[in-house]
Amino acid sequence: MSKILIVEDNDFFAEVMTNSIVERFSYTVDIATTAAEARALMEDNKYEFLIIDLILPDSEGELIEELSIKHNNIIVTTDFEDTLTRKKITSLEIIDYIIKSDSADFSYLLNVIHRINTNESITVLVVEDSLTVRNHIVQLLKVQRLNVITATDGLEALLVMKEHPDEIDLIITDYNMPNMDGLALLKTIRKKHSIDQLPVITLSALGTESIIARFLKAGSNDYLLKPFSKEEFFCRINLSLNNLEMLKGAKHAASTDHLTGLHNRYYMHSRLEVLSKDKKSLNSLAILDIDHFKKTNDTFGHHTGDLALKFFATHLLDHFDMENIVRMGGEEFLIILPGISINKAVLLLNNLRKEIEESQFTDDNGSIVKFTVSAGVAATEAGKCDEAIKRADEFLYIAKENGRNRIEFKGSVT
Ligand code: GH3
Ligand code: MG
Ligand code: MG
Repeated sequence: MSKILIVEDNDFFAEVMTNSIVERFSYTVDIATTAAEARALMEDNKYEFLIIDLILPDSEGELIEELSIKHNNIIVTTDFEDTLTRKKITSLEIIDYIIKSDSADFSYLLNVIHRINTNESITVLVVEDSLTVRNHIVQLLKVQRLNVITATDGLEALLVMKEHPDEIDLIITDYNMPNMDGLALLKTIRKKHSIDQLPVITLSALGTESIIARFLKAGSNDYLLKPFSKEEFFCRINLSLNNLEMLKGAKHAASTDHLTGLHNRYYMHSRLEVLSKDKKSLNSLAILDIDHFKKTNDTFGHHTGDLALKFFATHLLDHFDMENIVRMGGEEFLIILPGISINKAVLLLNNLRKEIEESQFTDDNGSIVKFTVSAGVAATEAGKCDEAIKRADEFLYIAKENGRNRIEFKGSVT
C-alpha cells in the first residue's frame, strides 16, 4: 500500500489528518514530529505524498525548501494566513498548501489528494503560442500530475484533437494566437463537444468585460486573466475538473442499473442514437427474457431472484460488449449487435441460450438454481431501431408461445 508522511508537531492536527486520510483513501500514514525525524523516515521509506507543517520545532520552512528541490509531492500546512507566508510558500515547487483553521481546510486537503490521484488519468491540451508561457503552464500542470499535450495555435489544436480522439479531458487555450485564435477554436470545439463534455478554460491578457462575456457565451467554462497566480490557476483547474467528474458521476448513475451494473433503458436511447449516425451499418437487435422468472422468485425468494439476474448479467458480459447490453427492466434485456448479420446474431444468441441452459448457481441457502432464457431477434438498418425492437419483442412472444428456451427471428429487413 502507498504511504503518506505527515510532518506535524501538533498531535491533534496529526491525528485528524491521519484519520480523515485513512478513512477515505487506501494509504498508510507515518507521522514525524520534527524535521530530523522526517529526514530519518525518508531514508528508509518511499512516500507518495509529504504533508509538511511549515513551522516545526527544528525548522521554519527549511525542511520544505530543502525537500521541494528534489520532490514534487509536497503539500504544506500552516497556521499563518499573512501575505508574506503565502508568497514564500507559493514560490516553492509544491502541490498546494492548506491553512489549518477549521475542518473545511481538511476537506480541502482530502480534495487535493483525491485530485492528484485522479489527475494521473487526465489529459490536458494546452494551446498557447508563447513558448515561455506554454512551458510555464505545462510545468504547473505536471506538478499536479496531469498529462499534458501542447499546440501552438487553434489550427494545430484541432489537428491534435483529431490525432487523440477521446483522450483529451480539458483544454486550456490562449486568446491571441496566429492562424486561429482562442475564440475561433472554442467555437469550433463547441460544435462537436458540449460544455459538460469537454471543459475549456481561456487565458488572456485582454480582460475587458465584453471579451470575457464573449468567451463565456461561446461556451468557455472559465476565464483566467494573465498574469495569474499559481494558486488561482490551480483552484480554477481543480474546480473545472471536479465539476467534470461530478457530471460524469451523475450521468453514470442515471444510466446504470444498480442491481446488475449493466446499462439501463435510459442509456439505450443515447447508444442507439450514436449507432443511428452510422447509416451504413446493418445491425441486429435481440430482446431476451428469462423464462418463468416469477417461479424462480416464488420458489427461492426475491433475493435469489436478484442473484439470478446478476448471474445472467455476468454471462451476458462474457458474450457481448457492455456498451451493447441494456437491462430494459425486470428480467428483460436488449442486446444491440452492430455490424452483425441476423444469421450471425442468432448463432451468438443460441450459444448464450445453451450456456444458460447448462449452467447453475448456488444461492445463499445452498439451493441449486437453474433457469432458461428465450429471445426474439430482428434485423435493422441503423436509424430504424424502434421498429426493430418492436419486431424482436414480437418474436420473443412467439418464442414463449413455442415453449420457451428458444430463439425466434425472421431474416428480412423491413
Ligand atoms: P415468462 O417465461 O413468460 O417470461 O414468465 P415470467 O415469470 O418470467 O414473466 P413474468 O413477467 O410473469 O414475471 C416476471 C417476474 O420478474 C415478476 C417480477 O416480480 C420479477 N422481477 C422483476 N424485476 C425483478 C428484480 O429486480 N428482482 C427480482 N428478484 N425479481 C424481479
Ligand atoms: Mg420472463
Ligand atoms: Mg417478463
